[in-house]
Amino acid sequence: MRYLKPHFYDRFVCTAGACPDTCCAGWQIMIDEESLDRYGKEKGEFGTRLRNSIDWEEECFYQNDRRCAFLNEKNLCDLYKALGPDALCDTCRMYPRHTEEYEGLRELSLSLSCPEAAKMILSCQEPVHFVKEEDEKEDDFEEFDFMMFSQLEDTRDVLFSILQDRSLPLALRMAATEQLAEQYQICMEEQREYEIDDLLRDCERHHKEQTLQEFVSESLSAKGVDAASFHQWERQKEELQVLRSLERLRPEWDQVLDGVEKWLYGSGEEHYRHICEEFHKMYGSLSSHKEEWENLGEQLLMFFVYTYFCGAVYDDMVCSKMELALFSVRWIQEFLMVRWLEDGKMLSMQDVEEISWRYAREVEHSDDNLNALEDWLFEHYAPEGCVLEEE
Ligand code: SF4
Repeated sequence: MRYLKPHFYDRFVCTAGACPDTCCAGWQIMIDEESLDRYGKEKGEFGTRLRNSIDWEEECFYQNDRRCAFLNEKNLCDLYKALGPDALCDTCRMYPRHTEEYEGLRELSLSLSCPEAAKMILSCQEPVHFVKEEDEKEDDFEEFDFMMFSQLEDTRDVLFSILQDRSLPLALRMAATEQLAEQYQICMEEQREYEIDDLLRDCERHHKEQTLQEFVSESLSAKGVDAASFHQWERQKEELQVLRSLERLRPEWDQVLDGVEKWLYGSGEEHYRHICEEFHKMYGSLSSHKEEWENLGEQLLMFFVYTYFCGAVYDDMVCSKMELALFSVRWIQEFLMVRWLEDGKMLSMQDVEEISWRYAREVEHSDDNLNALEDWLFEHYAPEGCVLEEE
């Protein structure tokens, strides 16, 4: 088996009681079969508490006020305290470590929804790189489209090289990667997969010759819009409604969404544009902040593209995987603008980390929300003629 992981992956250590939040509240913690079996046999008083704290039908821990039944008032785990780390179920033992499975390959990442992982991802100054490992294990996939997967991997490499090119403005990196993913989707839709390699070479040539803007324009001339640029008024308002339509994991998320309405969109387009301009003057155009700001965007984009892009091998939704990355960076930025206004036009690195992990908890870490959002992104941003296949 081959393994791939970000270079900082092994450095993760849970901060437990010092964590500004906890991963044991707000979502259902599913228990694997082996742990269920063990918990069912646990003896003594703790064994009784354990069995009474499990929803055996749903195979998860019960919650009290949306907190795991074992999470104590110090935000520490009573099960861990009583039985030690080996007794944790797979979900608790692994989080925030996340694995995407492909035939013969496991891609490991840290979930942005964990505050400590978000800190590691966002504070990484150098371009993230991926470490390869290998062992003797094998898997037994019944069906796997190797041909498509290898094209997706090649495409992701091109996306990475553009996203990590710090000589280019982030807006251009975003526009170019969006158009590359869209062109890939069109090739698939028109059953011209054999042209994808040429598409990649063409994009790489533009990158090398510093004519990526041309690549974007050529691609957009067919489509007629620039969906990658920031702050398109109508689009942002529509996207806010999509965020509102998703399932809430934490009730306080409503306040974050309300804040967007109140601070950004409530007084009309001109007012919104004025805020964006002022915000970018402070964080996007001053040379002291520009690099820092663009680096955060780059790290977020790399996180989303690395984690999700190759998953298109299972659903053919190539462009919505890229759109998910772009959408997420746009929205983390919108929420940051709200925080900046709320806090008297001040913003700290802690704000950036907190907004990012809160966003990830609500939107990206919930399978239902992630699927609903991806479907919406495909329906709204896929090139004309591309149709979402019914499951
Ligand atoms: S969210 Fe992350 S840092 Fe916080 S308790 Fe869970 S694993 Fe530890």
